[in-house]
Amino acid sequence: MNLILLSPADLEGDSLARVRDPRRLAHLHRVHRARPGDRLTLGVEGGGIGRGELLSLDEHEACFAIDALDQLPPPALPVHLVLALPRPRMLARSLEHVTALGVKHITLLHSRRVEKSYWQSPELATEKIQAHLVLGLEQARDTTLPAVTLAKGFRPFVEDRLPELLAERRGLLAHPGMPRACPRGLSDPTLLLVGPEGGFIPWEVEQLLAAGCEGIHLGPRILRVETAVTALLARLF
Ligand code: SAM
Repeated sequence: MNLILLSPADLEGDSLARVRDPRRLAHLHRVHRARPGDRLTLGVEGGGIGRGELLSLDEHEACFAIDALDQLPPPALPVHLVLALPRPRMLARSLEHVTALGVKHITLLHSRRVEKSYWQSPELATEKIQAHLVLGLEQARDTTLPAVTLAKGFRPFVEDRLPELLAERRGLLAHPGMPRACPRGLSDPTLLLVGPEGGFIPWEVEQLLAAGCEGIHLGPRILRVETAVTALLARLF
């Protein structure tokens, strides 16, 4: 937690914040070993970043006097990430990693090799997803939550949503064996598609290429989803 991310409910006016939830309190106690008088980095969800003085800390509450939260969060990556839904534990880690890297638009997509049971996972509950996004923001000192949408049908996504997404973005399909190496140093709006643990099936690859996506590869090593997505984002942007 490199930033204490405050929700609007934590704020009392502009200059005081009270943190009461067990996770952030435990982190302040055990990791920061915080003491009254310490100055820590604070940010408010959807808002600015600054510093605050810890006025008091016990097992129930931390109280901060906030300086002006007048610094902007770091810039977002110009990418909409479409991720075939991975297994729940990998989903949790992937959401944290990509949020820390600055992704602000995430679509979780069904495809043939996504286990149908993954869509029933408690990890897909709004509050669970939000918890992973918050961990990513706290890690990276960011305050802007990504928007996460679910696309539970591959064909409806390709037919109904993909055309409008590609109208304003360059579409890149990460798939082993594609002829083109992953480009570097992009700054234009991009749609990046990453497949499930078993990969996209050939029919899905054909559909995505026919819709206007370019196939790209990361070399001969087949990477796990969470590694691939991190390597792709680092190399692309
Ligand atoms: N056996 C699967 C295949 O060959 O497609 C492996 C899938 S991989 C575990 C999961 C996803 O990570 C892939 O669908 C792809 O989007 C991405 N990925 C992993 N390694 C890659 C590579 N070397 N080049 C491009 N994409 C890769």
